[in-house]
Amino acid sequence: MEFTLNNGVTIPALGLGVFQSPPEQTTAAVEAALAAGYRHIDTAAAYGNEREVGDGIRRSGPDRPDVFIETKVWVSDYGHDQTLHAWKKAAGKLGTDYLDLFILHQPAPDRFEKTIAAYKALETLLADGRVRAIGVSNFMPHHLEELLAATDVVPAVNQIEVHPYFAQPAVQAADAVNGILTQAWSPIGGITFYPGWGENRRNVMEEPAIAAVGNAHGKTPAQVMLRWHLQQGRSAIPKSTNPARISENFNVFDFELSSDELAAIDALDTGVRNGPDPDEARPERFAMVIPEA
Ligand code: NAP
Repeated sequence: MEFTLNNGVTIPALGLGVFQSPPEQTTAAVEAALAAGYRHIDTAAAYGNEREVGDGIRRSGPDRPDVFIETKVWVSDYGHDQTLHAWKKAAGKLGTDYLDLFILHQPAPDRFEKTIAAYKALETLLADGRVRAIGVSNFMPHHLEELLAATDVVPAVNQIEVHPYFAQPAVQAADAVNGILTQAWSPIGGITFYPGWGENRRNVMEEPAIAAVGNAHGKTPAQVMLRWHLQQGRSAIPKSTNPARISENFNVFDFELSSDELAAIDALDTGVRNGPDPDEARPERFAMVIPEA
């Protein structure tokens, strides 16, 4: 299943995420995903595993043009020339001469003018054919508004936290109005249960309403959540380093949720964000230096 982006480029709807995939496990995870049928990998400079993603792609069967590579510029590389250089770092580590989708990892509220300059560098890379599509991540409607007013190319994608406990309908609506594809991060709610990220979180994987839908279809909670994204027109990039779960997460093309089932999942939204607030500067995190290729 694919979506067509606002510039005509197609993107496989489901991709493998690699946030928190240790570099030494990432190559094997990418190989397992490509063997299971995935043709889209989502990484980021900040994840420290672009090199291993590239290795996994090269060791696998599909040719480079058949794999959609998405990566993200980190905040410390925002600014026009810095972001052009960030492309060199990313492409060098991934071992490719073009990226399929290059996005800004998040708005930097303490230096929004640098965020805009970074996006203008993405426009340059797009015009030069060094990326096939450009976009953003964690942009709220007001960030999109400011970006659209200051730049020429409408982002193809906005990658945001979306799972049944936090669906961000206002951001999804702003994306839709502007022709931007919403891509769900933590699509199976990883951020509600990552080990070591704090106690007392409600784990969406243990939600009875999702289990009930799964039981009706002989599918797991992860498969139900992924199907919910796909049927509502969102790209999703579930992360796993476990080959069985990587396959499980791709086995979602043989069943259909009813409109009542989709509505039951929509009704679980708490409106409470689990990830960082995109309007909050995180100076220490933002300062992380991305190594050269
Ligand atoms: P996720 O994909 O919703 O969940 C990942 C977690 O679920 C991992 O702990 C994984 O463990 C586990 N898991 C995977 N498949 C499972 C299954 N079938 N059943 C039970 N558990 C399963 O969360 P995420 O990693 O936060 O989000 C996915 C991707 O989105 C990331 O990898 C990254 O590419 C992207 N992301 C982007 C941002 C951003 O700011 N733009 C933020 C967060 C994430 P195992 O590996 O052990 O299977």
